[in-house]
Amino acid sequence: MKLGIVGLPNVGKSTLFNSLTKAGALSANYPFATIDPNIGIVSVPDERIVKLGELYHTKKVTPATIEFVDIAGLVKGASKGEGLGNQFLANIREVDAIVHVVRCFEDTNIIHVDGSIDPARDIETINLELIFSDIEILDRRIAKIAKQARMDKTLAKELELVEAVKAHLEDGKMARSFEVPDDEDAQIWFKGYNLLTAKPTIYAANVAEDDLADDGASNPHVAKVREMATEEGAKVFVICAQIEQELAELSEEEKKEYLDDLGVESSGLDKLVAASYSILGLISFLTAGEDECRAWTIKKGTKAPQAAGKIHTDFERGFIKAEVVNYQDLLDNGSLAAAREKGIVGMEGKDYVVKDGDVILFRFNV
Ligand code: GDP
Repeated sequence: MKLGIVGLPNVGKSTLFNSLTKAGALSANYPFATIDPNIGIVSVPDERIVKLGELYHTKKVTPATIEFVDIAGLVKGASKGEGLGNQFLANIREVDAIVHVVRCFEDTNIIHVDGSIDPARDIETINLELIFSDIEILDRRIAKIAKQARMDKTLAKELELVEAVKAHLEDGKMARSFEVPDDEDAQIWFKGYNLLTAKPTIYAANVAEDDLADDGASNPHVAKVREMATEEGAKVFVICAQIEQELAELSEEEKKEYLDDLGVESSGLDKLVAASYSILGLISFLTAGEDECRAWTIKKGTKAPQAAGKIHTDFERGFIKAEVVNYQDLLDNGSLAAAREKGIVGMEGKDYVVKDGDVILFRFNV
């Protein structure tokens, strides 16, 4: 699962990317890797495994991770091949969700590609490139099926869908606000086009340090981003990429002090990462023991045997039962034995749908 960081040049994408990847690098418990200069594995902050770690006096605490890709170089005209436009658009097509960074900070030393700070214009510029690129995909599909659709009912139905989506995009709207007919074929086709503007998106409003304390409430640029995001059904997070980069260099204690000075409780980065995880449709189940407390990533709706398979394929193949207790219940009772005695530990079978925060002990045949 990957998120792509997009936005115009000089809005703070790389600064955000560096702070995301560095933040994990300094903490011994957090695995960190840069696969390539533009791709980073980021730990998903999770207080639950830290607390379980304390309960179990664990040697190792392992968080879930997600991948971020810094997709630079998206400019006006990208969909027409400006710069390396098409290549960047292809990079975006490979991600599962998008973090769109929007510049809301004033700084005369850092030039804006279009000469002024104007988030509405910036968002439109980027979104239009994405829309153009999607229209091209749909046009290609139309060219491919239009002729045969005259004789083939199924293709005729698909053509109708493609044209409806195209009309929606030509209206300047994003594919994610298109209402796909409640029909299995239509759902599969729509998904298959892998449209950029259908990908779940979070806006990261990059503000100046002074705007952090009130979460950007007094910054009119942020208000504009919020207004546009609401129309599209997207979320907005207020961050200061520059501060995050500085915070990423500090120890936990220093970080807390710095945040106190700024008048904020937690860094925007943690919230952004948590939200990124959630828009990907991901949740975590937990395992706890003396050797390791760990968060495991699954898609919402995953059943117990498949969740077990995340740990080891043998666990899935030989799955018998899952012993499941909610994380908070386990903490409140102080131990798994005490929770068992209370009767709040479930013995679940192969149809059990795993929930976020389930602490699970799998029983399996080898
Ligand atoms: P990118 O082109 O979108 O990747 O932008 P960069 O991350 O390279 O940032 C462009 C410039 O803006 C750099 O000089 C950053 O130090 C600066 N910058 C990034 N975020 C902030 C911020 O929150 N406040 C200020 N004042 N400068 C920032």
